Amino acid sequence: MKRLFILSAFVVGLLLSSIATASNFPTEEPVGGEPFGYSTTNIGDGLYVFRWWVYRNIFLVTDEGVIVTDPINPKVANQLLSEIRKITDKPVKYVVYSHNHHDHISGGKVFKDQGATFIAHKNVLKELGDHPSPVTPLPDITFEDEYTVQLGGRTLELKYFGPNHGESLVVMRLPKEKILFIVDIVTPRRVAFRTMPDFWPDEWIRSLKEIEQMDFDYVISGHGPETQPAIDPASVVEEQRVYLEDLMAAVKKAMDSGSHNPDVLRKTVKLPKYENWQYYKEWLPMNIERIWAYYHMGW
Ligand SMILES: [Zn+2]
Repeated sequence: MKRLFILSAFVVGLLLSSIATASNFPTEEPVGGEPFGYSTTNIGDGLYVFRWWVYRNIFLVTDEGVIVTDPINPKVANQLLSEIRKITDKPVKYVVYSHNHHDHISGGKVFKDQGATFIAHKNVLKELGDHPSPVTPLPDITFEDEYTVQLGGRTLELKYFGPNHGESLVVMRLPKEKILFIVDIVTPRRVAFRTMPDFWPDEWIRSLKEIEQMDFDYVISGHGPETQPAIDPASVVEEQRVYLEDLMAAVKKAMDSGSHNPDVLRKTVKLPKYENWQYYKEWLPMNIERIWAYYHMGW
């Protein structure tokens, strides 16, 4: 109980001040003015958020070893391992994939070589079979609906909500800490990613509604810039869902009133409520085109 209180106090502190620790990569070529950098943030009680550029994962250090999530890519996985080695010399026992997309789960070989067991939803096996990657080890353990990873007295629960972004995305929950790690389907205070590749809008909303029913107080998201806190309040899940509902309603309303040209919709549909969300100006027109396709083509 005391430990939980300390963790909660730590988390609240993070929410208020967004303290990030650790050092930065030597700056490589900037993309869109944003340099690649990394940071490792201690959330408390052995839980860390590792960030590279706009990508994040979590790792959990226990008395018996380390549980790592999404290795991201080969170069970053090496950096992640050296960050872990600054904290513990315990072995990395498990690597958990959030979903099948190569931009999140490449590079695990460095952990495989040390004997880590890889865990993912069963559809990752099929998807990696269809789109193989030489730098992405196949999962050793797969599951259908739920799986619980236990190590050193710590627990990480994995839950599948059906198709939403691809067909293999799992949400991870630390039950004692009441923290969710959610990749791609919740990115706080940002409109949906570009043309929403491999996102199924209706299934995405359904999944978020189901996630909202889970027992959790905080969210760590798989994306977020350096300037965002490593951890957010639970309300970001609902905010993401309401954004999608508002987006779909606005596009549908425009189409119902006779506008069916996606080039016109991109210019005329506005969502002023979200003007201060990241990439509103750049990506909203792409979000609109995706939703136009959903209503126009039926998927
Ligand atoms: Zn993805």
